[in-house]
Amino acid sequence: MNCWFTELQTPDLTIGCRVRKILHHEVTPFQRLAVYDTAQFGRMLTLDDVIQTTIADEFVYHEMITHVGLNAHPNPRRVLVIGGGDGGAVREIIKHPSVEKATLVEIDAAVIKAAKEYLPEISCALDDPRVEVLVEDGIKHVKEHRDNYDMIIVDSTDPVGPAVGLFGADFYRDVFAALTADGLFVAQTESPFFNRDLIPRIIKDVRDIFPLACLYLACVPTYPGGLWSFTMGSKKYDPRQVDVTALPDLATRYYSPAVHQTAFVLPPFVAELVQER
Ligand code: SAM
Repeated sequence: MNCWFTELQTPDLTIGCRVRKILHHEVTPFQRLAVYDTAQFGRMLTLDDVIQTTIADEFVYHEMITHVGLNAHPNPRRVLVIGGGDGGAVREIIKHPSVEKATLVEIDAAVIKAAKEYLPEISCALDDPRVEVLVEDGIKHVKEHRDNYDMIIVDSTDPVGPAVGLFGADFYRDVFAALTADGLFVAQTESPFFNRDLIPRIIKDVRDIFPLACLYLACVPTYPGGLWSFTMGSKKYDPRQVDVTALPDLATRYYSPAVHQTAFVLPPFVAELVQER
């Protein structure tokens, strides 16, 4: 079979994966959802023909969007994930014994259903008793909650469609208000190669609202450019000041105490994106 999935990652760049089998395809009220079995990355979820997660590289993204922030906070008990309907972030969050409740707010029920059916390695924690799954808009959810979460993780699609508002200053203000007095948040903030206007804008907005804003990096082969950015806004704790010799042993494949430290080391072409302007 010579069938290929092709994502247009920028107007001038594609990534192609050879497809062994198309496992699922549907048009949901929000997006076009597909699950492929690919030769290189194993099963892969796409939304509107954009790769969301694959069995082969999902651990990088899910470990890095969760543990860096969770380990920066001394006692995260209530954690919110916005988006993330595949369940990978939640799977990592409940590795932390301090977490009493992980709330997942995903706008599209079809993503959760498909992940449960086709990506059990990723969605396996969604039925854990500590996990609450809500199908609603994350923008509305943070508006309606005040002083409620120790950590908020924005595991969103790219800034198009229902995710546009998840990248704006009004949303970050609501995130600030939904966090407890020493809370922090982490958002996936796209490619430092291809989103060179977006990242400085996000950093500025987060810096205007939170006492501390910083950016860190991880390598995710299926995302545009391979190098991915995460932005953290924190009311109190600085993730760069964590005593990494005292971090818990978490059974991870990418995240480690040393990676926690080095993730904040930014190559000059990325550092220039986060400088005060
Ligand atoms: N790791 C992924 C990436 O960076 O490509 C993100 C994966 S996760 C599947 C993204 C999810 O965010 C999607 O399932 C999408 O439905 C959800 N989403 C988008 N906008 C949302 C909103 N406003 N509220 C809640 N969920 C949203």
